Parts: sequence; C-alpha cells; structure tokens
Amino acid sequence: MKTYRGVPASEGIGIGSIRVYGYIDILSTIPSDCKAKDKSLEEAKLSRALSKYKDYLASLKRVLPPTDWELLDAYELMADALVNEAVEEVRSRGVCSELAIKAVYEKYSKMFRESGSELIALRESDLKSIASSLVELVSGERAQGATLIPGSVLVADELYPIDALKLARQGINGLVTRRGGVTSHVAVIARNNDIPYLIVPSINLDEILELEGKQAIVDSIEGKLIVNPSNDLIEAYSARLKCYKRLKEKAKRYAFLRATTIDHYSVDVLCNVGNVEEARIASTSGCDGIGLFRVEFLYMGNKPPSSDTLLNVFHRLAELFKDKPVTIRAPDLGADKPVPYIKLEEQNPFLGLRGVRLLLEYRDEILKPFLEAYLSVASRVNNLRLMLPMVSRVREVYEVAEIIERIGERLGVKDPSQRVSLGIMVETPAASMMLDKLAETSYVEFVSIGTNDLTQYVLAVDRTNARLSKFYSEFDPSVLRTIKITVDQAKRYGVEVEVCGEMASKQYAVPILVGLGVDGLSVNPPVVGLIKYTISKLEAKELKNRLVTRLLNLSESEEVLSEVKKYMSEKEIETI
Ligand code: PEP
Ligand code: MG
Repeated sequence: MKTYRGVPASEGIGIGSIRVYGYIDILSTIPSDCKAKDKSLEEAKLSRALSKYKDYLASLKRVLPPTDWELLDAYELMADALVNEAVEEVRSRGVCSELAIKAVYEKYSKMFRESGSELIALRESDLKSIASSLVELVSGERAQGATLIPGSVLVADELYPIDALKLARQGINGLVTRRGGVTSHVAVIARNNDIPYLIVPSINLDEILELEGKQAIVDSIEGKLIVNPSNDLIEAYSARLKCYKRLKEKAKRYAFLRATTIDHYSVDVLCNVGNVEEARIASTSGCDGIGLFRVEFLYMGNKPPSSDTLLNVFHRLAELFKDKPVTIRAPDLGADKPVPYIKLEEQNPFLGLRGVRLLLEYRDEILKPFLEAYLSVASRVNNLRLMLPMVSRVREVYEVAEIIERIGERLGVKDPSQRVSLGIMVETPAASMMLDKLAETSYVEFVSIGTNDLTQYVLAVDRTNARLSKFYSEFDPSVLRTIKITVDQAKRYGVEVEVCGEMASKQYAVPILVGLGVDGLSVNPPVVGLIKYTISKLEAKELKNRLVTRLLNLSESEEVLSEVKKYMSEKEIETI
C-alpha cells in the first residue's frame, strides 16, 4: 500500500482500478526545419484539418449536454484563430503546416503563461489540446487515447479538458493528475460531473506508468491517493462513500438557507475564492458572501496587475454578490506566495518579508496602486470589505489607515477610513495577543482568523513541509486556546470575528468554532451545504458550556478530535 498526498480539486471518494491515460507530445516531434514543398497544398491541408476538427466538435455536441457546449464553442473559436494564423505562417515563412500550427501555439502559449493570471495560464492546456489535434489531423498520426473501463480511476500526467468531457461521459470513478489547477477547466468539469479529482504534484512520471491496473482509492476529501489498499480499507471506504453520497444529497437542501443553531445563533457561511470564475460558481453555491478573495493570483505574473485589471475584477466581484459582503484581501505576497519582481533572498521566508509587512515596504509599487483601485470601486458600491494579511503589529494598521486616508482624499472620497470596512487577519500569535490594542485603533471592523498560518506559527511547524504534517493540526489545544483568546477579545470590543483558514471547511471543527463564538466561517464553496447542515444540528450554549470547556483542557489534538467525534455521534449528526 502506498499513499500520495494531493490537493482536492473536486471533492469526493472514488474506488476502482487504475487506467493510465497518456499523450505523446506530438508537437515536440515536429522537426524545426519542416518546409512547405507547395504552399497552396499546405494551406489546403490546414483548412481540411480545421473542417474535420469542427466536425469532431459537432459530434461531441451531439452526445454532451448543453451545459458543456460553451467549452466546445470556445474551442471552435480558438481553432479558427489558430488555423488563420498558421496559414499566414505558411505564406510568409514557407514552413509546413505542422510547424506553422506549432509556431502559433508557442506564441500564444508564452503569452498565456506570462499573463499573470492563473486562470489564463491554465487555458494553455486547452490551446495545446487544439494544436495537437490539428497536427494529428494534418499528419494523420494518432497521439492520444486510452482504453477505458467504466468504473476506473484515471491517472494522467495532465488531462486536456476536451478529453475530460469525453471521459466524464464514459463514467469514471475518480481522476488524478500530476499537473493541473483547482481552477482549471478539468476541475470544473470534474465538479460538474461529480467526479472526485485529486492533483498530486509529488508523483513522478515513472511512478504513474507503474500504476496501470492497480487498485486505488481517491480520497479527495482528505487529499489522498491510496494505491493497493488493503481489503479492510476498501471496505471502510466503500461504507464511507455510501454515507458521503447520502449526506451530500441531504446537505444540498441546507446550502441556500441561513445557518442557525437550534438555539437561534446565526453564523454566516461565506466562501473562499481565488478568481472571478470561482466567485461566480460560489455565488450559485449558497455562500452568504465572500470571506476571503485571494487577490494574489493576479500578482503572479512578471509584473503587478494593471489598474484596469484590478478595477475590472473588483467591479465584477461587487456585482456578483450585490448586497452580500465581498472581502478582498490586500495582496499577501512573500513566503509561500513569492513573485518574480520582488527578489527576497531570505533564510526563513515564513518569518520574513510577507503580508502587510511586505506591502508597507513596497508601498509605492504594490500597496498604493492596489488601494487606489480598491477605493475607487469600494466608494461606489456598498458590499466590499478590505482585509490585511499577516498583521503582527498595531502600527501596521495605523500606517495602512493613513495611506487609505491620503489616497481617499486624492480620489475625492468623503471620510475614506470610515467608508472602508477594514479588517485584519489573525495569523500570528502577536495579532491574537494584541487584539485589544488592534481593536482600540477604531479602524478594525472585523477580524478573520487565518488558521493555516496561525497553526504554523503557534506550533512552530512549517505548513508546507510534508514530513511535518503529523505535527501540524488545527485541533491542537494550543491553537484552540489561541482562537479562544482572539474571539473573546474581538467580542469585548464589538468586532466581528470569522475564520477563513481551511479549518472552517472541516466538519469536525464546526462545533468547536461555533462553541467558541465565531460570527462567520469562510469555507470552500463545495462544502457550504455540509457546514450549514452541521451548524443547524448544534446548540451554541451547550457547545460553549459543555464541549469547548472540556476540549480546552485536553493535551493532544487526537484527544480533541476523538471528543468531537464522540459528541457529534451522540447528537446523531452525520459526518463524512
Ligand atoms: C490562512 O493563513 O489561514 C489563510 C487563509 O491564508 P493563506 O492560506 O492564503 O496563507
Ligand atoms: Mg495566511
């Protein structure tokens, strides 16, 4: 038995035997000196390939539901544009049609990758798929395909969205790729088709090839690919899968309701998203707003985003959620989110220039342009909130507030710091210990606990080090005590308190966080219904007086978890 850790891109559990899906990289087989013997013949080949490709898309449309047609239409447009430019290449450079397609693909692929948008960069695989298919059609070579037995777990280095569509239709139990992103088309297709999809970057190509035919469990809830599991484990997972399916159906009914405990304590269930497309999906998932918009994906290119890009994104977010809050985090750069245009040579990046510290250090390059765009949109709508990452000193809040004041004045915004709904993330023990002083600044309207970082700093465990994962747990009593201090201080000062780290998306954490008194949980969109269902089965007063007091006196995270599990089972709350 071997277990690989991965990132869940579509939640669920899949069990089956592995089929390895592979492509030959047909584009890399094209000689760089491939010349056109007869230009008009090459042009004719291109136009024939395009028309066959369109026939192929039309045939897919006949078998796929209309919800998938949008992608096929986009493919048709991209193929048209690609072939038009390839014809130009043949005419101007006299290259053969295969090389012409490859040249156009390479030009746009580079632009996509350098676009600075994770979403656009991921679309590079759509373009590669189209270019490869066109080259196949021009040259008559087959470069892709796999024999598939329904019920398989499909493992691939990478999967093109168009193949994901076909495979989803054939019915697969699970999908695992080495490359890909949680916001890719493949992830969207997997989610729409209820296929558990896990991205496992640590698996190498040789290992993938050796997986063919082996039994596997894709646990895309906890983020595990288990190869050659024992019979007992298969049995346990089969039972879990049954419960999971039943609970998922039930949770759907709660997603669009207010989450209120039995004793009428209301909790906002907001969502965490990383781009506008995810926000659009979230807006139809029942979220009570956005609790964390990770703006930093816009900063991942080779320069910061333009003011137009920022304005456009903020506008669209505000519009999507209208009267519900949308919390935009100021760019949290550095440490695990490095950017190429800020060179930080640090021995301890997690203890280095990151979050608001970095923003204040690079105020002219990053913070001011960001705030300018933010303020000009926020002053015209009423649902945007601004959140500062990695706060560790009170003066950071004053400094940012002063910059907001000056930019606001320049933009003609009346009372800028009153107009801005400003919040801070509590991710450092310092922010938790100093919350009274932070709240006294009168700028801080809300607090959001970033348990991913808070856990790493409270326990002194690097959150990215897989070897240390057994030491990293948000359920550790030390973390719970830190959260308690934070919530109690926030309440004392009338500051709203939410949790936006991964802990908020974990079902077993819900009784603890509700018992500690949080006002909101910001979770991953697919679990909104599950979290709301769980809240609705709890009694806040009892949690506070009975469960939480007991948990805070335990010594180990394992003890905390087992107590919570026992409590939930006593209350007959179904869990995944
Ligand atoms: C956190 O630290 O909990 C958090 C939400 O921020 P990120 O995971 O982006 O660092
Ligand atoms: Mg963080």
